[in-house]
Amino acid sequence: MLDYAPIVLLTLAAVVAGWLLGRIQSRKVKSALPSLSRDYYDGLGSLLSNNADDAVESFIRALEINSDTIPAYLALADLFRRKGEYDRAIDMHQTLLARTDLLHEDFIRIQLSLAKDYQAVGLFDRAEGLLQSVISENPRDNQRHSARRQLAKLYERQQEWDLALKTALKLPDSKRADIAHEMAHYACELASLALETNDADVENWLKQALRLDPTCVRANLMWAKHRMQKHAWRGAIKHLKEVADQDAKRVPETLPLLSTCFVELGNMDAYTAYLDQCLTKNPSSSLWVERAKLIEKQSGAKEAEVFTIEALRKHPSLIGFDYLLSLKLQASEPEERERLLILQQLTGQLIQSKPKYQCQQCGYHSKQLHWQCPSCKTWDSTRLIQGLEGE
Ligand SMILES: [Zn+2]
Repeated sequence: MLDYAPIVLLTLAAVVAGWLLGRIQSRKVKSALPSLSRDYYDGLGSLLSNNADDAVESFIRALEINSDTIPAYLALADLFRRKGEYDRAIDMHQTLLARTDLLHEDFIRIQLSLAKDYQAVGLFDRAEGLLQSVISENPRDNQRHSARRQLAKLYERQQEWDLALKTALKLPDSKRADIAHEMAHYACELASLALETNDADVENWLKQALRLDPTCVRANLMWAKHRMQKHAWRGAIKHLKEVADQDAKRVPETLPLLSTCFVELGNMDAYTAYLDQCLTKNPSSSLWVERAKLIEKQSGAKEAEVFTIEALRKHPSLIGFDYLLSLKLQASEPEERERLLILQQLTGQLIQSKPKYQCQQCGYHSKQLHWQCPSCKTWDSTRLIQGLEGE
């Protein structure tokens, strides 16, 4: 965990010093200076003797609460929350809220911040009540938008997808852009629920997901799977091909589904043409191997081997090498076969032991695709690992 103590202390020292200078310049310091100075220098003394807690207390005592110092208090409470001192953050916010001389804008800001504390400690009902009360208290537009954004995230955390989406939809278009992909995932989650309860709604939710975020790969993959369940192979192919335009690096996710659809349609030439097109635009190990497997079916293992060796030269990868071994095995003599089998077992184990995906935000590794990173909770941040051990 980050050591926040120096940040807390420097923030406070700077704020108190700035406030003090302001008081001197405005010549209102006569009565405040003696007591303020003692607390301030006590704080500096504690800081120099590495007594962080005492230093923080001294600086807090030195700060008179008023509209100028409230941002400093809020910044400090925010730091306490981020370092896990939730009780302290809540205590500071409640102390501020108890004041009767707060400006309406500050009152709202403190409530928004307190709602974050409640959410952090799992007091979801209190956080929800506070945010709803902020929205109804006629705040400034930006504060109402913040409250709605926070409320949507709160519902998301509780997997209340319907409420999360409805809340986010109340934001004006201009404020939705940066959460459009999250909203599309809420719609996908609702589509997923509809699969179990009301099948007719599935495609409506997916349509909404793509309307909210035209780059939502998940919606197209779900839609394709839904079409495939109804044996609508052409419809499924249409959605799977759209993935290549949305994010070319996600194409490998579509290959097992595309293969099934083209096999069902008995149109492997069209599949081959599509793979060649994707290989030209954005080659990956999965694409090379899939293309080689088609050559193996159409022209035999020897042709596939020549193609695979050439592909491995251009694009070396573990899964390509593993497939080459399987081709070699087919034409091997008994004594060579035993050695190749051992080698293939090893590459198989290596592939199995390696993570396939990595979160682009926090680096979390996983063997399966997560639409929301289990570690940092970012949506759509998990990608297939590239390079020798991946794509
Ligand atoms: Zn992450």
